[in-house]
Amino acid sequence: MVTLYTLGGVNEVGRNMFAFEFEDEIIICDMGLELSNLIAHNDAVDKMALDEIVEKGIVADPTMLKGKEEKVKAIIVTHAHLDHVGGVQYMASLFPNASIYGTPYTIEVLKVLMKSQMTIREGLKNKFIKVNVNSSFETPAGMKIEFVNVTHSTPQSAVVAMHAPEGIILYAMDFKFDNRPALGQRTNYERLKELDKMGIKLMIADSVRSNNKRKTLSEIVVKEMLRDVFIETDIVDTQGVIITTFASHITRLKSIMELTQELGRKIVFLGRSMSKYCRAAKNAGIIDFKAKGVEIAESPAEVNKWLEIINKNKKDYIVVCTGHQGEDNAVLSKIAEGRTPYELKADDKVIFSSEVIPTQINIEASQVLQGKLEAFNCKIYRDLHVSGHASREDHRDMLNMVHPKYLVPAHGPVVLKEGIVEVAEEMGYELGKTVFLLEDQQKREF
Ligand SMILES: [Zn+2]
Repeated sequence: MVTLYTLGGVNEVGRNMFAFEFEDEIIICDMGLELSNLIAHNDAVDKMALDEIVEKGIVADPTMLKGKEEKVKAIIVTHAHLDHVGGVQYMASLFPNASIYGTPYTIEVLKVLMKSQMTIREGLKNKFIKVNVNSSFETPAGMKIEFVNVTHSTPQSAVVAMHAPEGIILYAMDFKFDNRPALGQRTNYERLKELDKMGIKLMIADSVRSNNKRKTLSEIVVKEMLRDVFIETDIVDTQGVIITTFASHITRLKSIMELTQELGRKIVFLGRSMSKYCRAAKNAGIIDFKAKGVEIAESPAEVNKWLEIINKNKKDYIVVCTGHQGEDNAVLSKIAEGRTPYELKADDKVIFSSEVIPTQINIEASQVLQGKLEAFNCKIYRDLHVSGHASREDHRDMLNMVHPKYLVPAHGPVVLKEGIVEVAEEMGYELGKTVFLLEDQQKREF
C-alpha cells in the first residue's frame, strides 16, 4: 500500500508538492511556489519565517508530515519551474535525511535561486544529487527511481517512475508530447511503454490544459510564428522590437536568438530572471548564450544602461525580457509605465511569446499591462506561444501508453480537469473508483 499526501498543487495552479509514503520511507515530489502569492509578498518574503510563508499561501503547508520528517528520504524536483522547485529553499531543511534529486539543469536553477537568497537560507544542509533524464537512482531504502525524459517548456524535464513493491507510481508533472523539440529529445515513449508492461499502479497527471480539445503543438511551430511576425513584417526599419517570454524557457530563448541573428540585429536579454536561468543553462552545459553573442543585463542599473543605448538605435536591437504576466517590477511593466529610458513609440512592436497563467491575479495583472501598452498605440502581438502542457489528445495518448490502474489529475481546479476526466471515462475509467479528483491537503491510500 502507498499513501499519497496531496500537500499542494492537486487542485490549484501552483505550489506543487506531493508525498508518497511507503513502508520504509517517504518520497516528496516537487516543492513549489504559488507565484501570485509570492509576487504579492515579494519584497517581504526573504525576511519571513517558514510559518508565515506557509500562511501567506506561498508554499504548501507541510503540517501533514509532522512527526514523519525523518522518514522523508528523497525530495525529487521534476523540472525547473518555480511552481515545482521554488519552495525547496524554504522547506527542504524540515527533512534532514532527504537528499534533493533533479536533472542537472533543475539543480543548477535551484542553486542560482538559492544563491540570491543566501543571507537567510544558509542553513540548508540537504545534499543535491544530479540525475540525468532517462537514468535512475536508488533511494536509501533501496527503491529504484527513474527519470523518464519528457518534453515541456523548460529543459531536462522528467516524469518520475517510482518502482514500489506495490507497482509503479508515475508522477507526470509536467509534460507535453513535442515530436519536433527545438532543444533536447522527444519524450521517451519507448520507456513509458515498457513501464506499462511492468504495471503502473497510480499516475499523478498534469492536467492544467486538458480542456484544450487538440494536441499541444510543437515548439518548432512557435519559431515559425515568431519569424512571421518579427522578420517578414520588419518593414519599418526604425521600429523597436520587445519580446516578452518565460525566462526559464531556454528553448524559446534559443529560437528568438537564432531569428534575431537572421535579422542581423543584436539581441539583449534584460532582467534578473533572464540572467539567472541563462546562467543555469550554461552551468548545465545546455547553451551558453553569452558565447553566442547575446548581451545579458542583470541589475536594474545595467538594464537601464542598455535601454538607454537601445532607445537611441532601436532598429539595431531586439529586447527580450520578462513581464508578460503583468508582474509589477518586471522590465516590461517598467517600460510600459515609463520607468526606464526606453520610450515606447507607435511603430514599436511588443510581442508576447507567452500565455497568461490561468489564475485570477495573473489574468487581471496582464489585462492592466495590456491597457498601459495600448495607450502608446504600439503594435502588440499576443499569444505567439504553444503550451508546455498536455492537451486533451495528449492525455489520451499518455493513458493509452501507460494504463495506470488509478489516475489522479492534478495542477489545477476541477474545471480545468474536465478534459482528462472525459478522456479517461471514454477509456473505461470511473470517477470515484479509478479516477480521483482530490483536494489539497488530503491523504489517500492506494
Ligand atoms: Zn512546468
